Amino acid sequence: MTFTQILGHQRQKYILRRAVASGRLAHAYMFEGAEGIGKRLMALALVRAVFCLKGTGCGDCTACRKVDHHNHPDLHILEPDGAAIKIDQVRALQKELSFRPLEATKKTCLIDGAEKLNPAAGNALLKTLEEPPGDTLLILMTPQPEGVLSTIRSRCQRLPFSRLGREHLKEALAERLGVDETEAHVLAALSEGSFKKALGKHRDLFLERRKDLLKTLTGLSQGSILPLFDLAEALAKEKESLPDILEIFQAFFRDLLLFHHGRPEQELVNIDLLETIHRRAGRETYSSLLRKLGAINASRQQLDRNVNRQLALDVLLMQLAA
Ligand SMILES: [Zn+2]
Repeated sequence: MTFTQILGHQRQKYILRRAVASGRLAHAYMFEGAEGIGKRLMALALVRAVFCLKGTGCGDCTACRKVDHHNHPDLHILEPDGAAIKIDQVRALQKELSFRPLEATKKTCLIDGAEKLNPAAGNALLKTLEEPPGDTLLILMTPQPEGVLSTIRSRCQRLPFSRLGREHLKEALAERLGVDETEAHVLAALSEGSFKKALGKHRDLFLERRKDLLKTLTGLSQGSILPLFDLAEALAKEKESLPDILEIFQAFFRDLLLFHHGRPEQELVNIDLLETIHRRAGRETYSSLLRKLGAINASRQQLDRNVNRQLALDVLLMQLAA
């Protein structure tokens, strides 16, 4: 992956390219921003630009190819082992960094999920940041900079990354990856600017499963309590996907609200479910929709606080079926 192939983040590319070209790279960077928006791709593009035998990040030389395959002897990648990055991992890295680079001009290390450095590991890493051994380049990445020790943060050059805009993401999904225009629209709208979400396991959730979920949801009525509880029970078991499922519900009711306001169809998320939206909108009022959106919001907050999931979902679905 070269800088040019990375979508968006023009300012960050400019800063990094200029630093490479002028030989003024910092010893340590911290790339900050949401999951899946391209921080790691940018880090690898930077390493490639630094290691490339032609000095361009060409993609063809052996150095570039080794970076792409993660088997360059001077590139180390540190990731959480389970829930945390542990001190043993940092010590092993420090040992590696104490040797001279084998093939490149410097040793580099990517630390992905820097907020997961446990306190001991963080303090150990601090020593490396204070006195970098020889010529090293450390790139820390995190969606939660406030979760990283402030002493680590202050020793890195911090580079914030923003989410990709909806239109930007849609265009890229359609043009570069050949995703169908309607699907690209829905994926971009639901992925909050995250390429990883749009293409990973969310792809099915946001496309096919979304239709099934909304079909079941719109089929519920307060009179038929059993199907309602069945759905709540099934959803309560999906702890990991639940925030995204609620996002799907929220997007649907937001669509109904926009439809009520006579907004153009292109502004809706579920442009492939226009018929359902027309039908359902006829049964809702402005205030019923606001109430339902409020209920979804409230249950999102409750679920963040680890309340009884099934109970929270029972109540939510009853409110949505009203
Ligand atoms: Zn190259």
